[in-house]
Amino acid sequence: MNLVLLGPPGAGKGTQAKVLNEGLRLPHISTGDILRDSVKKQTKFGLEVKKIMESGALVPDDLINKIIEERLAQPDTENGFILDGFPRTKQQAIKLDEILKKHPAGAIDLVLYFDSTLKVIIERLSGRLVCRNCGANFHIKNVPPKKDRICDFCGGELYQRQDDKEETIKNRIKVYEESISPLIEYYEKQNKIRKINADFSAQEVYKVLMKLFKDEHLL
Ligand SMILES: [Zn+2]
Repeated sequence: MNLVLLGPPGAGKGTQAKVLNEGLRLPHISTGDILRDSVKKQTKFGLEVKKIMESGALVPDDLINKIIEERLAQPDTENGFILDGFPRTKQQAIKLDEILKKHPAGAIDLVLYFDSTLKVIIERLSGRLVCRNCGANFHIKNVPPKKDRICDFCGGELYQRQDDKEETIKNRIKVYEESISPLIEYYEKQNKIRKINADFSAQEVYKVLMKLFKDEHLL
């Protein structure tokens, strides 16, 4: 089974990716994790990525596409995979379809869109802590760092993003929905988008997903 996970910040997409990874035994491929990992290991590539991240710019499509192509060439993806954070644009989705033409697991089966109400998203995001250095996410209650206000991955300082404050969350969601709409359209034309109510706990959402996979004859 080949899945793509989409959803605005705070919809619980990352959490669900981890639950699905354990439940389905499919590799969870997060472009954010791959980038952070390369920064942590201080490879030549990682140093390049660090420079881009520190400048506040987005990592360019070419680089992200290359990362995904290399990751999907690894044998653990042969029976399927869960993509989280990729594709982010229609161009990336086209590139992905191209890569998958030669991939043993075949094309994308479903694109899961995690949808939450504003109230729930605010609860989730208002406790979030972000690393100033590598961008890793923690949560005061749900995913606390090992040391107070210190990043587990790189030792950087954790802070609450200005845009995790209630008044700006609404706007971020609107911006996300607008930026992602060409991608949604692209997958709608392929009849692959499924909207998931992500207001419930991770366990409940997981149950809904298992039923969906059975209904779609993917399990
Ligand atoms: Zn860090």
